[in-house]
Amino acid sequence: MNNTDNHNTGGHHGEFQAKSSNPRPTNFRPNDRPHNSQKTYVYRKEGSGSTSIDQALEKIGATTAPASSSGTPAQGGNQFHAKKLNGNSGNRRRQGGRFNDRVKINNHERVPSSGRNRNDVIPPLAYGDIRVIPIGGVEKIGAINMTVVEFKDQIVVIDAGFQFSDDDTPGVDFLIPNTKYLEERKHMIKALVITHGHLDHIGSISFVMEALGNPPIYTREFGAMLIKKRHEEYPHLPPLDVRIVERDDTSITVSEDLKVKFFGLTHSIPDSTGVIVETPYGDIVSTGDVRVENDDGIATDEEVAQYEFFKNRNVLLMTLDSTGIDKPGWTISEKVVADTVDKIIRDTKGRLLIATFASQVERIIEFLNSARRYGRIVVIEGRAMKTNLAIVKHLNLTNLDHVVDILDAHKYPSNKIMMLVTGGQGEQYSILDRVSKGTHKYLKLEPSDTIVFSSSVIPGNEKTVDELKDALYRKDPKIITYYDSDVHASGHGKRGELEWVHKQIKYKYFMPVHGNYARLMMHRDMVMNLGVPKDRIIIPENNGTIIEFREQGTKYVVLPVSAPHEPISVEGTRIGDIQEVVIRDRNLLLESGVFNVFAVIDERTGKLKKSPDIFSRGFVYIRENQELFHKVRGLVKKVIEDRTVDPKYSIDELKEELVEKVERFLLQKTGKKPIVMAAIVTF
Ligand SMILES: [Zn+2]
Ligand SMILES: [Zn+2]
Repeated sequence: MNNTDNHNTGGHHGEFQAKSSNPRPTNFRPNDRPHNSQKTYVYRKEGSGSTSIDQALEKIGATTAPASSSGTPAQGGNQFHAKKLNGNSGNRRRQGGRFNDRVKINNHERVPSSGRNRNDVIPPLAYGDIRVIPIGGVEKIGAINMTVVEFKDQIVVIDAGFQFSDDDTPGVDFLIPNTKYLEERKHMIKALVITHGHLDHIGSISFVMEALGNPPIYTREFGAMLIKKRHEEYPHLPPLDVRIVERDDTSITVSEDLKVKFFGLTHSIPDSTGVIVETPYGDIVSTGDVRVENDDGIATDEEVAQYEFFKNRNVLLMTLDSTGIDKPGWTISEKVVADTVDKIIRDTKGRLLIATFASQVERIIEFLNSARRYGRIVVIEGRAMKTNLAIVKHLNLTNLDHVVDILDAHKYPSNKIMMLVTGGQGEQYSILDRVSKGTHKYLKLEPSDTIVFSSSVIPGNEKTVDELKDALYRKDPKIITYYDSDVHASGHGKRGELEWVHKQIKYKYFMPVHGNYARLMMHRDMVMNLGVPKDRIIIPENNGTIIEFREQGTKYVVLPVSAPHEPISVEGTRIGDIQEVVIRDRNLLLESGVFNVFAVIDERTGKLKKSPDIFSRGFVYIRENQELFHKVRGLVKKVIEDRTVDPKYSIDELKEELVEKVERFLLQKTGKKPIVMAAIVTF
């Protein structure tokens, strides 16, 4: 599901996506590593290739560190640990009780899917019938989009998304689609077609392509760049066969009986398209994510033109985004958003911070253009934002000459500075989070600053957003949100737009997708009001629902069995574990600093030679915390001398105990958890 708002490279989740269950690595310890027992998908990172996108990244300061610079040689590689969710995983909250079957993915020992279909076998597809399976994208909020279209011995897969927790929160796992059905039919897969570059549509490609037998990927260019950029993280994997298509290309033959055709539509990331799989009995249409550009509820001429070709099509099945079905009317036009923010950029007297979803690439381009118009330099912060802008630069979608590094921002007067940042959902360690707490190294908030939230609050994030706003308001900058002003619109059409799309496309059958069950049903009800008979509307009860069109597409059945669909959880992050550990440490350092203990033990007596030394950086101000440091020295002395009473004590164990006790003590006294290190010398 998802939305515009969020998915994308490293983007957050959709507007309606539930807040991740474990968004914050609050209680990991510095030495924690993602556990690799039960290893399954093992991706080894052997250094990043250098490409023109990399160079573009470098220019705007978004380079991805090669493994060699990661500083954690102990990590032998960049490993993902994939597993089916089980009752013991931290994901229970997110998934409810559905995913109880423990599974080993590497050797395919899987327990059959839970629920009503437990032991049923999926019958082979009868010759001449068409099978459509939403492997993900229906049933629950927070969809991992993937749809299968099958005819004879040929399969086309539409989208391969993933879902993860938070943009700037490393160390949490994410979910990829269950590809068991496809793995078993690998030889039949002719193509993976991609609607657009948001992560809930492309995020799992590197993880599932081998299981799918590495079919060619058809996508438009912006999506292609994002897919390739992500795939560079896994140089040991076979290269992807990415084929870039033009928006209005004629149909592409992908197999004996199937063709695919793309069509342009409006969303929030460049090159968004809908996809048509042409079968002998009509089109299977997947719109992907869609909104409709409009003037006060009247679709623009460009929109009308985009759908015109449907007049001459024979559509067997249409599927459509249900994300915005619960919102009446039409979204405000992106043009209104751009104009509103343009005026803010023009009129704001001081420094301007704009928080938006990194996935809103088209809007970000507008903001950059406005900044250039009014002579503001732009600082871009947030990894996902930087990656997307590197691709914007690479494709030359706009001029980025006025983008400067944050370290150079001070050279400009504040009324000439604009910052584009992520963190509008209150994500911990994001720029806004740190700015609000006063812990950002280079950016201190002033009352003369203006902050624009060009984003909505994703349901589930209300609390963290409130906390963020509380902290920001204490610094009293001017804050502008979509409550006051037209500074945000969703990339997913509201009810009025969806209704309009239905009127542009004549179809035999309709299946609502990209939404939880309630949204699918609301979508059904709306369509029935438009006059579509109930028996022409197919509601997938759950992901994995198998729909078959029989008798040359004149009737359909929903099979009583489902394809395996429980999402697979992958531990690690999209950037790989090595770098992840480094980032975690950096985040810890940022948050709480580092605390070193140095002690010299007299070999003969086991007593300390002198009071232990303590060094700390970024933790607390030493001069104001003499008392605390004094107590730590006392604690260190006690821990050591209690141990060294036994002449056979182990230095390693002693160090471990010291670190643990000092950590616990500091946490109790200060609420902070700095990285604690201990060094002991005996002589
Ligand atoms: Zn989406
Ligand atoms: Zn999208």
